[in-house]
Amino acid sequence: MSAPSNLPPQVFRQAVEQAALAISITDEQANILYANPAFERVTGYRAEEVVGRNQSLLSYKVTPDLVYETLWAQLRRQRAWNGMLVNRRSDGGRYLADLTITPVVDAAGKTSHYLGMHRDVTEVHHLERQVQNQKAMIESVVDAAQVAICLLDERDHVVLDNQEYKKLIGDLGREPVALLLTRLREQMGAEFDAARASRRAIRQRAVKVERHGQPARWFACAVSWFDEQDASADAFYEPTKRHYLLLTAQDISELKRQQEAIRLNSLSALLAEQERIQSLRETLAGAVFQLEGPLNTLTAAVRLLERRREGNGEEAFDVAIETALRDSRAALDTLSACIPDQRAEAIQPLNLNEVLRDVLKMSTAALLAAGVVVEWRPAQELPAVHGGATQLAAMFRQLLANAIEAMNERRAGDQGHERVVRLITLPHADHVEVILEDTGPGIPTEWRYKVFEPFFTTKGAERGHLGLGLSMAQDTVARHGGLIDLDSDYREGCRVRVQLPLAAGGVK
Ligand code: FAD
Repeated sequence: MSAPSNLPPQVFRQAVEQAALAISITDEQANILYANPAFERVTGYRAEEVVGRNQSLLSYKVTPDLVYETLWAQLRRQRAWNGMLVNRRSDGGRYLADLTITPVVDAAGKTSHYLGMHRDVTEVHHLERQVQNQKAMIESVVDAAQVAICLLDERDHVVLDNQEYKKLIGDLGREPVALLLTRLREQMGAEFDAARASRRAIRQRAVKVERHGQPARWFACAVSWFDEQDASADAFYEPTKRHYLLLTAQDISELKRQQEAIRLNSLSALLAEQERIQSLRETLAGAVFQLEGPLNTLTAAVRLLERRREGNGEEAFDVAIETALRDSRAALDTLSACIPDQRAEAIQPLNLNEVLRDVLKMSTAALLAAGVVVEWRPAQELPAVHGGATQLAAMFRQLLANAIEAMNERRAGDQGHERVVRLITLPHADHVEVILEDTGPGIPTEWRYKVFEPFFTTKGAERGHLGLGLSMAQDTVARHGGLIDLDSDYREGCRVRVQLPLAAGGVK
């Protein structure tokens, strides 16, 4: 490229003199012919000190020979070379030079001079290395973390993840961050979007992931958002931010399983205790009921005798019989007072699907032992009812136990009969309905209401049945403001329907 003819040569000279880059012009042996003031500022050598000396005076001798060989091979082909060299200043200090050398070719096509331009990039290099080191450090810390970490950009692209996260990709079979965020959003509803809009961090939340045919997994998830200043040239005068989402997820499935086992164990213990009290109540109530009849008859007989013998003067006999009656009544009252109270229990909003799921889990052994197939058909969405979780669980367990027992009875005489328990939940406008069907012998229509009476049993007292199970179930349902009945149209076995009102109301 030739200089424009309308520009005087001193303009070029001044431009080179005032340039911020260290500029030197050498002969074809790299002997310095000219150095500008910036060269002095960068190298510490004054122009008069370096003119006539070789450019190699700047070499710190740690730059590999191969770099120089490449440099000169390029220049020999009359091509410009650019690269990094470690240079030494006049005071002995080192700096990193970003150097460009351009051959100056004469009219005969021969290289007559070289133009060298360089700047000190030590500080830039230092910062770049620092950034790289920090990045490497962050990546190794993130990789070593025992929680899955994933960073998403605003287009939901994963820009950083760690080993634990990569393991999750293998386990969950799709992009785990999308799955976990979807579950979190479903669980939190509008709260999630509000947190996102205000960039408010979401602290640890347990998120359940269910996959077909595999046990459910639980993750403690936390989400935070942060902004990064856009570093592109476009954003230099118009700063913009990039938004990122950071998700951490820790697998807590084992912990959840343990908690679930502990919860079921304590619920089982609570139910066993309640059943023990219940049976005590039944026994004592039975004893009181049994004694009340003859005692009432005796009282009536005594009153009759008293009237007949009025004025006969047998006061001693009257006193004795009165005392016996009074003592008997007092004993009966004492017995009644011994009947333990129904346990007080916190009334709370309940999802009957969860209560029934617990009941099924606790009854697994009994169902397996009886060879009963369970068809569990919970409604997808079930509104809450207000109730005592233990009371309702105990009641449904009683109904399930009745069904198993009924089918065991039928099995005795009908070997090939299929034993199925169908448990269905249905939402209605003002109540939730639970249907329990079995394939046992069923209950005759004429006993449809009688079976709810205390002490009525279809099984016979000689087999240890007091006949209080359905009566107690009715008592529990009534205390929840609900209804229980038997479907007389059902012919396959027995169908019990329990209806419990939605949350308003409560339990007496
Ligand atoms: P040298 O013995 O000089 O050379 C090392 C290798 O380079 C040899 O193997 C040889 O094959 C090759 N070589 C050297 N001179 C020539 C030549 N004239 N023709 C063909 N091949 C050759 N070096 C720096 O370290 N820092 C600088 O800032 C720097 N600026 C330069 C600016 C210009 C304009 C030019 C032309 C060169 C510059 N050099 C610079 C290169 C410098 O001239 C030396 O080649 C280099 O410093 C290595 O010096 P040395 O004494 O270690 O080895």
